[in-house]
Amino acid sequence: MPTEPSPATRRACVIGAGISGLVTAKVLLADGFHVELFEKQSDLGGTWHPDRTYPGLRTNDPGAVYCFSDVPYPDTADAFPTAEQVREYLHDYADRFGLGFSPSSQQKRPPMARRDGSM
Ligand SMILES: Cc1cc2nc3c(=O)[nH]c(=O)nc-3n(C[C@H](O)[C@H](O)[C@H](O)COP(=O)(O)OP(=O)(O)OC[C@H]3O[C@@H](n4cnc5c(N)ncnc54)[C@H](O)[C@@H]3O)c2cc1C
Repeated sequence: MPTEPSPATRRACVIGAGISGLVTAKVLLADGFHVELFEKQSDLGGTWHPDRTYPGLRTNDPGAVYCFSDVPYPDTADAFPTAEQVREYLHDYADRFGLGFSPSSQQKRPPMARRDGSM
């Protein structure tokens, strides 16, 4: 009969360090998984990465709504946060929950096997 892997051996990989990937990694870590977060851009943020935004860009929804339910935006953020404020918020979130994202070590795509099994 198959046995449950121990928490120390449960491993998960999350592809993409945008909002979805960050919250997924946070929940998996809290559940005891060893998490590896892959990101092909030079930093976390996904949609909000500097290469994908322009000066003056803001969220469509107010920050009070467009936030993780357990982490509000700081009072210093605008009602409709700027892209820069979103990036700062996401970095703080990653730091707070120890998501361990380091652009230099994590800027990579996960290895993909071809159909014939070769890498
Ligand atoms: C200008 C603008 C304003 C917005 N405002 C709002 C708003 O107010 N409210 C709202 O609800 N939504 C808003 N959105 C929608 C926004 O896209 C989502 O809220 C959210 O940022 C999407 O996050 P995500 O993690 O799902 O995807 P993304 O942010 O796209 O992140 C996906 C990540 O995966 C990485 N990735 C993909 N493939 C690979 C791979 N093979 N290997 C490694 N990494 C990979 C990408 O590089 C990226 O970093 C807005 C979008 C834009 C463009």
